[in-house]
Amino acid sequence: MSGCTRETQRCEFWQQGGSYFRPPCCTAHLKDLLFFTRNLLTRHGILHWLDWGALLGAVRGGEFVPWDGDVDFGVMREDRDGIVALAPEIERAGFLLDLSEEAYTWRIVLSPFNFLHVDLFHWRDDNGTLKMRWRNCPEDSWAFPRSFIENLQPVYLYGEPFLAPTPVDELLARYRYGDDYLVPRRGDELDNRVRAYLPVRRFLARRIFAERMQRNLDLLRQLLDANAFRDYDCTLPAGGSAPVSVDDDSPDAQLAYPASAQKLFLELLPTLESAGFQVLRRPQPGVPSPHRLVKEGASYDFVERVPADCTV
Ligand SMILES: [Zn+2]
Repeated sequence: MSGCTRETQRCEFWQQGGSYFRPPCCTAHLKDLLFFTRNLLTRHGILHWLDWGALLGAVRGGEFVPWDGDVDFGVMREDRDGIVALAPEIERAGFLLDLSEEAYTWRIVLSPFNFLHVDLFHWRDDNGTLKMRWRNCPEDSWAFPRSFIENLQPVYLYGEPFLAPTPVDELLARYRYGDDYLVPRRGDELDNRVRAYLPVRRFLARRIFAERMQRNLDLLRQLLDANAFRDYDCTLPAGGSAPVSVDDDSPDAQLAYPASAQKLFLELLPTLESAGFQVLRRPQPGVPSPHRLVKEGASYDFVERVPADCTV
């Protein structure tokens, strides 16, 4: 098992039954996001602290809770504009700022395909009490006194310091997980994340996906043209830029060529592969099945063009 990458969907390990654990690939990506986010917010002087499951994991054992699937920081709602202004820097680092659920969380996501992420939960100071919004829950469901963040102290995750509310044991016991918060227990650390994702995925991916797909389609056409493979028609599906996952069977673009060009096309496959296109489906003899090329999550199907006078 090679695990998830930036170019694949994340491992949906929480769907693997009641005793799942986060696989090493996801842990590695979450650590990248964790360190990046801390460094980013620190460098820009934005008040932040480790929150929720990430805080619990740090205090319990200096690691993420083994079945937790994201990283949580707390920030102040008044810092929204300062954080949104960091989007270009976040993208330069290869991540994305996802504001699709910004009423609840500003999210730093691993990639347009892999939605492992950091949640920046934004707290509002209501006369000395911090309150946070999450879906339909009352805003004071998790309220705690502002004094906890007035003297942030480090806790350690993977050997590195992260600012935490103080006194952290009182926060965790009294305002979060109960007196036995040090006892590992599945469930309460999961917050609401498991149920929250599918709509976000498509929303976030659309723009970046469309840009990449167009870039790779241009590259593909250049390579085909340069190798005398010119007689083909390219069609984009209706809606064009809607993201389609790799395991979805509909192509993102379809290129039809005459049967007479198939030999040349087959000869070009190594060239296309060396340009980064992965050949996922080889032709089956006697079946007009497409050759599917995939790059950066978008698929390009090559099919034999059916002559117009052969259609019934
Ligand atoms: Zn993974």
